[in-house]
Amino acid sequence: MIKTPASGAASRSHDAEPVVARTVTELRTTVAGWRREGLTVGLVPTMGALHAGHLSLVAESLATCDRTIVSIFVNPKQFAPGEDLDSYPRTWDSDLAALREAGAHAVFAPLPAEMYPAGHATTVSVSGLTDCLDGIARPGFFDGVATVVAKLFLQAGADRAFFGEKDYQQLLVVRRMAADLDIPIAVIGCPTVREADGLALSSRNAYLSAPERAKAPRLHAEMQTAARRIRSGDGDVSAACADAVAALQADGFGPIDYIELRDAETLAEVTAMGAEARPARLFAAARLGETRLIDNIPV
Ligand code: AMP
Repeated sequence: MIKTPASGAASRSHDAEPVVARTVTELRTTVAGWRREGLTVGLVPTMGALHAGHLSLVAESLATCDRTIVSIFVNPKQFAPGEDLDSYPRTWDSDLAALREAGAHAVFAPLPAEMYPAGHATTVSVSGLTDCLDGIARPGFFDGVATVVAKLFLQAGADRAFFGEKDYQQLLVVRRMAADLDIPIAVIGCPTVREADGLALSSRNAYLSAPERAKAPRLHAEMQTAARRIRSGDGDVSAACADAVAALQADGFGPIDYIELRDAETLAEVTAMGAEARPARLFAAARLGETRLIDNIPV
């Protein structure tokens, strides 16, 4: 279901055009002005091509912080060679219109050379949480994410940052990074926004052809089936996951990178769910044609 953001348009707190900052200096000057007024600041990092999932994070920030910055930066360091860096959707005009309508106060949209000037040589790498799932399926991805998000946190100096549970492993990695580097920011996770048919909203859904779009909700449906079996205590986690993989392959998905049950905090593999079990989530990544879909649900 497309959920309207918690406070949605109602949280629109001003009619002013968002400040567009292209440089770190412009961003810091804007935030310093707010700080002098004693205002709290929220940050919503994105790669643009904004949809209702992104806007739910913006609404949460607007509802809980005095000022909201949305960053739009297609981060080259989180794309491997051969991935979709060049074709990633870039929709600046409609993104800015959506953020104006939502009531965001500032948009930080740096060029790659502003974020990674010549000579940039530092990578932030989080171990442990990145040893599974997309950490294996997309080597280097989380180093790119941790590096750019650490920079955004230090550049913006916000009080709170908002991330989607849609990218649940990323949320945990970013939270770990901020804690380990003593960056004084609260990392807030927000629920996944879905289409009415269950498909998680994603900028990459734009790549799906009409027949692929019709098939795409099968991923969430098979995950729910597996989650129900696991919850019902028929117990065999690996059989439930293997059956979901087989069903998706029969539907024309493939390759399936993973369908796995993992601890919701540590991402340790969970092989059985008993009454005493800690919170777990089912994670999936599968290709449909040229598009890689990911999703996760609580079990
Ligand atoms: P991206 O632009 O894909 O890097 O995503 C920017 C932020 O939006 C990340 O924190 C994502 O987890 C979040 N996000 C993306 N899709 C959704 C969604 N369907 N529901 C909630 N948050 C989302």
